[in-house]
Amino acid sequence: MTSLIVCHACDLVHRRGAIQADSRVRCTRCRAELYRTNSASIDTAIALAITASVLLLLSNLYPLVAFQLNGTTRVTTLFGAALGLYDQGYGLIGAIVLITTVFIPLFQIASLLYVLIALRDRRRAVRQNELFRTLSRLRPWALPEVFMLGALVAVVKLSALAQVIPGISLFCYAALMLTLAGLTSVTPTEQFWAWVEGSKT
Ligand SMILES: [Zn+2]
Repeated sequence: MTSLIVCHACDLVHRRGAIQADSRVRCTRCRAELYRTNSASIDTAIALAITASVLLLLSNLYPLVAFQLNGTTRVTTLFGAALGLYDQGYGLIGAIVLITTVFIPLFQIASLLYVLIALRDRRRAVRQNELFRTLSRLRPWALPEVFMLGALVAVVKLSALAQVIPGISLFCYAALMLTLAGLTSVTPTEQFWAWVEGSKT
């Protein structure tokens, strides 16, 4: 089947050639990158998604940071930090933190696993296309990097006032951030639809 692809930069329509592994396809007029194919398999994506789900679970189970001040120790978790924001009257910010750091990554990982495991078995998951479109739209709203940066700045600032001990959760969250970046890079939109077409044979 011949499919067409439109350049996102200059709107020139191209006929898609045979896709080669590990190649970048550029617009013939403006040289913008149309798509990049990589040889990552569904198995790689599933393995990364499983790793990410374990890291997300661990980063919610273990303490984020521990503070020691005047002999007392206070430990906070990711959920605890969001609840703390709520208690201090920043309910909206607490909700945004939870949604962007926990719920959107959770939805991303779970729905990718659901769709990819079905594709691997050459099946088509119920609501596969809708799910993948939602995932593409949600991608800019998963903000683990922003959260990590904020958490690191807070840890450094607070270390002047109290002894701050980074918790297991913080390290798991850092690993999750890298795993999600890897997962996003092996499941670009083009690659996903290539898998869908491949599963029909
Ligand atoms: Zn172009």
